Amino acid sequence: MNDFPVDQVDSVVTPWNVSGVVDYDKLIEQFGSQKIDPQLLKKFESLTGRPLHPFLRRGIFFSHRDLQEILQLYENGTKFYLYTGRGPSSDALHLGHMIPFLFTQYLQEAFQVPCVIQLTDDEKFLFSKDNSKKLEDYQRLGWENAKDILAVGLDCERTFIFRDTDYIGTMYPNILKIQKAVTYNQARAIFGFDDSDNIGKHGFPAVQAAPSFSSSFPQLFGPQNNLPCLIPCAIDQDPYFRMTRDVAPKLGYRKPALIHSKFFPALQGENTKMSASMAHTAIYVSDSAKQLKTKVNKYAFSGGGATIEEHKKYGGNCDIDVAYKYLSFFLEDDEQLEKIRQEYSSGKMLTGEIKAKLIQVLQPFLEQHQQRRSQVTDEMIRKVMTPRKLSF
Ligand code: ATP
Ligand code: MG
Repeated sequence: MNDFPVDQVDSVVTPWNVSGVVDYDKLIEQFGSQKIDPQLLKKFESLTGRPLHPFLRRGIFFSHRDLQEILQLYENGTKFYLYTGRGPSSDALHLGHMIPFLFTQYLQEAFQVPCVIQLTDDEKFLFSKDNSKKLEDYQRLGWENAKDILAVGLDCERTFIFRDTDYIGTMYPNILKIQKAVTYNQARAIFGFDDSDNIGKHGFPAVQAAPSFSSSFPQLFGPQNNLPCLIPCAIDQDPYFRMTRDVAPKLGYRKPALIHSKFFPALQGENTKMSASMAHTAIYVSDSAKQLKTKVNKYAFSGGGATIEEHKKYGGNCDIDVAYKYLSFFLEDDEQLEKIRQEYSSGKMLTGEIKAKLIQVLQPFLEQHQQRRSQVTDEMIRKVMTPRKLSF
């Protein structure tokens, strides 16, 4: 498979590969999405009646498609549903995967809306280069991942989680309509497939597109419906939804709206995407306090000076410091974050100290997550995976 080049020279952003220096402003231009502006943020605040989520305040969710339309509909009394997903590739989620789910939980609570979560066990099976893993392995990972997903605090009464291999039948009519509306050439141009890619890959994008249309969920929303859909995801998933938005009007459906996040970087560096395929570059939500500490101290790329003397003299560089970057995702207090930024930039705070601060913030986050996850039973997963009317 070719990586579809977003920028020939310095970066690649596809659902399967992110590399090079990602320029997010450029990405907005190249993908044709829109920047989330202060006016839109105000709207968010006034509609939800609560302070903005740190991911919004800090521009971590930075781009969108048709967000103002969906908020307008909401204001006029039409509720939307949320759709997001996960490709089950590892036993536990890593912090990068948590970003869209944490944000989805916030959106669900703030707007009191239903949410569907697709586990693409089929995708991981078709796209994996690891032939030792069987389809059943991805199904099992999907089940396990559902526990981490529920543990972020989603409302069970309003949430439906499904594995594609279980639920595909109900979506099949929409999948077929989408497949008929997209040519082979279009799929190749969007996703960079080539002659050596299996035929399953070529058909898969329609499977990820289908949940964007509410008629894929007759048991949840009733048989005749055309509910607006909002998709929170990292911007690497956008190609799927460009295709989806392109076919929607041909099928008489609404285009889904999107809200895109930046990437949570790998431990090794600012301009990367944390990925499950490289275990030592990721912090898993299942990591122990000791593992967390070791990973941060040993691997987190530092923007500090080469020696303590140099650091004190010239200060640290927050733009490339991974510990600072992670704090900007997970430390909620704006004042504290700003104080750390100033002290680290001026050289007053040392690399060891900013890393210690990060560990201090992440350790309780992981502990609480693990505690909540341990309370999610198989019975609860069975329930949340059962198609049923969702409360609006
Ligand atoms: P991996 O190789 O780690 O499994 P992936 O992109 O295949 O990565 P998915 O499970 O397919 O992971 O992604 C689930 C959701 O999490 C998507 O919305 C994706 O954009 C998002 N996501 C994955 N990694 C990151 C990251 N490092 N930062 C922010 N969002 C991420
Ligand atoms: Mg993926």
